[in-house]
Amino acid sequence: MKRSLALFVFFTFPLHAEMRVSTDFDGGNAEVVKLDQASQTVRIMPKLHEARGWPCWWYLKLEGLTLGRPVQLQVQAQTKPFRDSTVLPAAWSQPKHAWLSSDGTSWTPSEAGARGDDKTMTYTLRPKTQSLHVAWGPPFLPADAETLLAELTATLPASKRFELSKTRDGRAVHGIRIGDDKARHQVWIGARQHAWETGGSQVGRGFIRWYASDEAKTLRAKTCLHFIPIMDVDNVALGAGGKEAVPRDHNRDWADAPIYPEVAAAQRMISEIHQKHGLDAYIDLHNPGANDPIFFFGPFAFERMTGTQQRNYSRWIELAAENITSPYPVEPKYRFATYVTDEEERSRMSSGWVRKHTGDFTLSVTLETGWNSPLMSVEGYSNVGIGLGRALRDYLEEDPRRP
Ligand SMILES: [Zn+2]
Repeated sequence: MKRSLALFVFFTFPLHAEMRVSTDFDGGNAEVVKLDQASQTVRIMPKLHEARGWPCWWYLKLEGLTLGRPVQLQVQAQTKPFRDSTVLPAAWSQPKHAWLSSDGTSWTPSEAGARGDDKTMTYTLRPKTQSLHVAWGPPFLPADAETLLAELTATLPASKRFELSKTRDGRAVHGIRIGDDKARHQVWIGARQHAWETGGSQVGRGFIRWYASDEAKTLRAKTCLHFIPIMDVDNVALGAGGKEAVPRDHNRDWADAPIYPEVAAAQRMISEIHQKHGLDAYIDLHNPGANDPIFFFGPFAFERMTGTQQRNYSRWIELAAENITSPYPVEPKYRFATYVTDEEERSRMSSGWVRKHTGDFTLSVTLETGWNSPLMSVEGYSNVGIGLGRALRDYLEEDPRRP
């Protein structure tokens, strides 16, 4: 009797290590709803960070995995409202593929998830290592920004890193200036005013690596570029969504008195650049839509524009369409953020603020990439960034300041 019990215990329990979930790292986010060791099933929802926007981003590390023993990762919507009484629909936290990494650096898509009747998405993971990073999309964290900026200063010793500001929580928002500040052309490119839109920073990394390459040598010689890899550093570090934060998110904060110090600092620097040298282009990188393709939001007044403005915005979208072709071609026509119906709110969007505070020849647009595809990988986003760089090269080559 004793012996058979011992055997039973032996065969039932010690064969597998316990699966554990951790999120105590930058960008980590998951609220564990259920964890069943026997079936290797873990059910999560994105954790709600009060007043910090959409609970859609999740990123966790699984440990104690058994090689060859599949894990079922179920993702459901956060059940509590993120703003007033609004609960975020499940789809925002359920990409077709989860993204996997054994080292936290290189990321591949999982098998496609399966949507259940109960509005959960189940991803079957087949671990080849005992621990696995699993995320909503390929992450880009403050540490990645640091690595990237260090890489740029090593490649281009004349470039100059700067601290845009400290955030409200005291974190540093880093940027880099590449080129002489009195250069003929002045450009500002930034990403992640919406923290969860990780593809924005991935596009930014592809762009800036191209910009630092030999192919961009002529462009660099006549341009002063300011580049910010992550604007909303606080929410990126916390793993919070950022979008529709209370009282407003970064891309609705471009008012006379911004609440985010990094937005205020960007406004000051952009104004100063424009006053001293003229600003040629402001490009803000976003990554909002599940099934949207790649497109630019243009100015609401585009159809009514005349002269230099009309010429420059038209030329930009033509050159973007010629150059941004992978993994999908960019749409050859602007879209307009007509979902923002309130004039006052429109006036607080960064691209509008820049248009209002710069000149006739200034281009101010946002580049929007979709995310719900295995092609929107680190490499896929990077290719969009390379295309963006080539479009900028061709655009400045024609000199947007010509009469
Ligand atoms: Zn956005």
